[in-house]
Amino acid sequence: MEVAKTVEELNPFVIANQQFDCAAEHLKLDKGMRDVLKSPKRQLVVSIPVKMDNGEIHVFEGFRVQHNIARGPAKGGIRYHPDVTLDEVKALAAWMTWKAATVNIPFGGGKGGVVVNPKELSIGELERLTRRYASEIGIIIGPDTDIPAPDVYTNAQTMAWIMDTYSMTVGATALGVVTGKPLAVGGSLGRAEATARGCQFVVREASAIKKIPLKGAKVVVQGYGNAGSIAARLLHEDGARIIAVSDSKGGIHNGDGLDPLKVLAHKGKTGSVQGFPGSDDITNEKLLELPCEVLIPAALENQIHLGNVDRIQSKIIAEAANGPTTPGADEILHKNGIFLIPDILANAGGVTVSYFEWVQGLSAFFWEEEEVNRRLEKIMKRAFNEVRGAAEKYNVHMRTAAYIVGVNRVAEATRLRGIFP
Ligand code: GLU
Repeated sequence: MEVAKTVEELNPFVIANQQFDCAAEHLKLDKGMRDVLKSPKRQLVVSIPVKMDNGEIHVFEGFRVQHNIARGPAKGGIRYHPDVTLDEVKALAAWMTWKAATVNIPFGGGKGGVVVNPKELSIGELERLTRRYASEIGIIIGPDTDIPAPDVYTNAQTMAWIMDTYSMTVGATALGVVTGKPLAVGGSLGRAEATARGCQFVVREASAIKKIPLKGAKVVVQGYGNAGSIAARLLHEDGARIIAVSDSKGGIHNGDGLDPLKVLAHKGKTGSVQGFPGSDDITNEKLLELPCEVLIPAALENQIHLGNVDRIQSKIIAEAANGPTTPGADEILHKNGIFLIPDILANAGGVTVSYFEWVQGLSAFFWEEEEVNRRLEKIMKRAFNEVRGAAEKYNVHMRTAAYIVGVNRVAEATRLRGIFP
């Protein structure tokens, strides 16, 4: 019995389609519409030859998928990870489509990935890899066609290289081709914090509904990259106690609370959160099972699954990562009374401020950080309440509700535009 319980579908694209089908069922979409919305519009697979520092040439594999562009240009990050697969990128691209639609910003969904461990590359190798990849996908990206951004193990510097490579090809600086750029080359104030800040806004909404004050709340964060480390800092500022955090090497725990900024400095110095003074080591698996008020998975897919879901003790889960929970686990969390804020809502702050960055670049008029954060808060709160409303109306959990809101918008756009020719 125990064995059968843990055998579940873990292919992210199959999972993305299961999540979609669930909403499509509630929306009573016909088969033709379902097939259109499930099918990625374009999938590009590229070989990326790179001259390594030792003179050898290594060929890396890369992808760019445009899942749907019915509501606007494809939008979504680029991931560098040794385990990237085309199916994963297809899922991540689909999730971007539903995410942009759920928060109602005028983008479709796309995603890119390169099969590489960037930690094994020198900075020069990383730049050459990035520029060649940018050049290879240059035939489909552009300010009004497909706009990349950072994702796992890519950052503002990666975006600057892509912007420059694309700009050299077209012969003019194209600020709108990527978002998440450094401030000095057309980035937006607030973009670096945006994923975490959006997450903070929806956690505040959830904590009000669940009557769990954030002051003194125990918070656990899995993943200490851009999303996780800043979410920990912002919730700490809200008075929460960050009792455990982790990165790919493992986790740390201190029941009295960790100082997120000091942990970040330690990771900057040593390469990991592990060994932080005054903390005990904890595995990434055990960390998820700690009793707490708020759990923030901010790393990779499939972390909460049928094999561990019954041991999850958090009251609220906010998915800063994409796809951290399997569909089977979703049902059990819901049954166990755990309030889950799904990825396509909880981490939509990133793409929302990417939208602001894109608008600012195209209009050559840059906003103050206060305006960025105010507009972000408005969008996150509105989206949270719309999803909450759908959850009540359809009597479903928050993930299915978010899909209902997002899928409905893309279906409506598709219906209005019609099928060409
Ligand atoms: N990679 C982020 C995400 O998964 C941001 C995408 C973007 O800003 O386009 O939402």
